[in-house]
Amino acid sequence: MREPTRIIRAALSGRDGQWDLELGDGRVRSVQPHDPLRPAADGGLDAVGVIDAAGGLVSRAFAEAHVHPDKSYSLSDLPDGIDQAENGALDPFRRAARLKAGFTVDNVAARAERALRLAVSNGTTAARITADVDTIAELRGFEGLVQARERVRDLMDVQIVAFPQEGLLRDPGAEGLVREALRLGADAVGGWPNVEADPAAERDHVRRVFDLAEEFDVDVDIHADCFLDPEERMLECIAEETIRRGYRGRVLVSHCAALELQNDADAERIIARVAEAGITIAVIPLNLADGGPRGLARPQELRAAGATVVSGSDNMNDGWYPLGTLNPLDRASMTFWGGSYDDESDIDTVWSMVSGEAWRALGRRGGDISAGMPAELLVFAARDRAAALRDPLGGLTVLHRGRVVSRRRVMREFAEEAAR
Ligand SMILES: [Zn+2]
Repeated sequence: MREPTRIIRAALSGRDGQWDLELGDGRVRSVQPHDPLRPAADGGLDAVGVIDAAGGLVSRAFAEAHVHPDKSYSLSDLPDGIDQAENGALDPFRRAARLKAGFTVDNVAARAERALRLAVSNGTTAARITADVDTIAELRGFEGLVQARERVRDLMDVQIVAFPQEGLLRDPGAEGLVREALRLGADAVGGWPNVEADPAAERDHVRRVFDLAEEFDVDVDIHADCFLDPEERMLECIAEETIRRGYRGRVLVSHCAALELQNDADAERIIARVAEAGITIAVIPLNLADGGPRGLARPQELRAAGATVVSGSDNMNDGWYPLGTLNPLDRASMTFWGGSYDDESDIDTVWSMVSGEAWRALGRRGGDISAGMPAELLVFAARDRAAALRDPLGGLTVLHRGRVVSRRRVMREFAEEAAR
């Protein structure tokens, strides 16, 4: 597979006309108005030289800031000895813990690889992925994700979070395992203070997470206030800790569904602290599945206050959630709806939450395509973002480091009489 050197006849969002992109050394070398004298050729997976976008949209690739592929497909591929009906009757905590007890390094690696390949085929070329590290999974989930990362290394860039899902105080032994994962190269330390027994323990959990982050000089990637319960209030504590520790720009907090239920005065104060702390919030549109209030963490107010907001996948076919497509276009559409966006111009906002802003959340440059940036690119059959969002399984070619890594061609055939 040789490196493509050119994408021609491309549409770019926000710019009129057709464009040609020159690629080299894994980067976008130049973006110029389309020159009709440039040779066109079909750029298949192993073709050389030219990808003719034929007027389709070329976009920066998507990035995934929050997903748990150690668990993906653990619901459809139940470990031996677990009865499906009995499993379905459990509450999500117990179901997820039970499935997790069946993790082996091999089955995690295989399921995670499958999930990550699906994500790549949907246009994601960088992801921060989370491994449960606790006394149930021990290091099997983490080691499985390390193996999966190795298997997809030519397709996407992956960061791994060591996540004590069962708590740090509630699950004595988890902290030592998280420390071991960090010693083995985990890229960020996770947490979920709300699972602890009382508010003092929740705050202690937050302090311990930051202690670990400082000890290993890694980012914090923490779950907080995941449920539709206004009594869940750890986001503000995390913002205070971020400011106190000088960890601005190094903290991502996911979920924050409860923020929607706080009264407006409290929410305004919390959001101001989040913006001051330089925290990135990953909203999780799957929270919409909980029904009732949407639980989408007030993305419009967070952005208006200057906070970075991204949209993450969270769970897929596991003890917490049976569905999930790992398709950023679905995520963007759900964020549009769940975030009460309604204007066509808001399409750029929800798109940025799965692309430019999500790249920034992973420590990379934000924004759209420009000369000099890494050639993490998507060539859509659709002509613009709205058309791509309306057809999330439309034609798509994915480039990672300037090379085609995946191509989806779509054939829709109709019976003769149905075609009329
Ligand atoms: Zn999560």
